[in-house]
Amino acid sequence: SLSDRLTATFKNLRGRGRLSEADIDATVREIRRALLDADVAVPVVRQFTAAVRERALGAEVSGALNPAQQVVKIVNDELVGILGGQTRSLQLAKTPPTVIMLAGLQGAGKTTLAGKLALALKEQGHTPLLVAADLQRPNAVTQLSVVAERAGVPVFAPHPGNTSDHDMADGALVGDPVGVARDGVAEARTKQHDIVIVDTAGRLGVDELLMQQAADIRSAITPDEVLFVIDAMIGQDAVTTANAFAEGVDFTGVVLSKLDGDARGGAALSVAKVTGRPIMFASTGEKLTDFEVFHPDRMASRILDMGDVLTLIEQAEKAFDADEAEKMAAKVAGGEDFTLSDFLVQMQQMKKLGSMKKMLGMMPGMAQMRDQLENFDEREVDRVQALIQSMTPAERDNPKIINGSRRARIARGAGQTTAAVNGLLDRFAQAQKMMRQMAKGGGMPGMPGGGM
Ligand code: GDP
Ligand code: MG
Repeated sequence: SLSDRLTATFKNLRGRGRLSEADIDATVREIRRALLDADVAVPVVRQFTAAVRERALGAEVSGALNPAQQVVKIVNDELVGILGGQTRSLQLAKTPPTVIMLAGLQGAGKTTLAGKLALALKEQGHTPLLVAADLQRPNAVTQLSVVAERAGVPVFAPHPGNTSDHDMADGALVGDPVGVARDGVAEARTKQHDIVIVDTAGRLGVDELLMQQAADIRSAITPDEVLFVIDAMIGQDAVTTANAFAEGVDFTGVVLSKLDGDARGGAALSVAKVTGRPIMFASTGEKLTDFEVFHPDRMASRILDMGDVLTLIEQAEKAFDADEAEKMAAKVAGGEDFTLSDFLVQMQQMKKLGSMKKMLGMMPGMAQMRDQLENFDEREVDRVQALIQSMTPAERDNPKIINGSRRARIARGAGQTTAAVNGLLDRFAQAQKMMRQMAKGGGMPGMPGGGM
């Protein structure tokens, strides 16, 4: 998986320096492979990785992340941007009914989606009507009726007048889908349904006839939403199909179906990037309840196949205040003295990291930090904080002046013993020594204040 490959990349990267071009290229190569594995269309992969590379080259140094992690985070942010930059909910008509038309290839999951959407809307207090305007496929009308019954919503099916062949048992129902769609919307208006969902026919592949029919239905009913349903397993064909529907029918939103399968979801990225239309819903199974609002962040992790790592990167970044770290580093590098106030800031960061020590173990390159956190007592931070807060600013800047009587005063102020003050000053002296060594070029000192 990408996580494994990136772990290997992490190992080759030292420290937490600035992102080098070589680091970025190595990481971007892995990302490119992951995207191709996830069936993202080739031109989309090319554009995408170029954008990521550019952004990574200009990226700020982060205090919490190593270079590879930083690139991964940029990739994730970009993915979420493309997938979710335009996330929105259904556009409801000012004057009901809101007309929703479904479009897509045969087998994409339109009819199933019609039922799912109807159920979800019904549960929100709407009164949807389903319209069976797929007269192409044998039993399509029956299938929609079954779905409608399960969802507990009414269905508008073609009248005999709409069809040239009335023998539905033969499945040879060929008629006027445009008329059915128009009548269905009229029916919704009369019967005061506030939403009408029009199911349409698809074909196995993109063809003129299909597009013409869909376009005709669209002109006849002027829908508020045209949802393009696409099978997430479609892979590299996603771009061609999406483009054909975008041109032939034009759609306002995308529904990604069959996300319960093995598909890594590359189709989502391709469609979102190529058409610029928002992905609004995800269909995740054959049951009517297997339906959800689309989550760009989940899809980004799925495409990259590295869910946990991304969550960890995000939390590490939140926990570790990059500004503080940089200030500290600058201070140390400049040979300035490390004070008790700095010590307290570091302990507070340790405390934030402490709450995620279990997860840190899962994160590449973080094992060392985890071991130090293992021995870290979070309550100790509060005790140290109380002690440092009962010191005067002069004492914090220059602990050497803290004599016996000052120690007693500080202990009293913090409600602790003089021994506790002594212990803190000893540990501080050790940390200060370590920071000075690091300033001389000793490298990464580990987390100061650790080992308590
Ligand atoms: P349509 O031709 O676009 O109307 O597609 P259908 O709604 O008839 O779906 C085609 C097939 O895919 C049916 O067997 C559905 O049960 C199945 N299907 C639809 N959506 C999903 C989904 O999200 N997950 C899975 N596993 N199957 C689905
Ligand atoms: Mg259908």
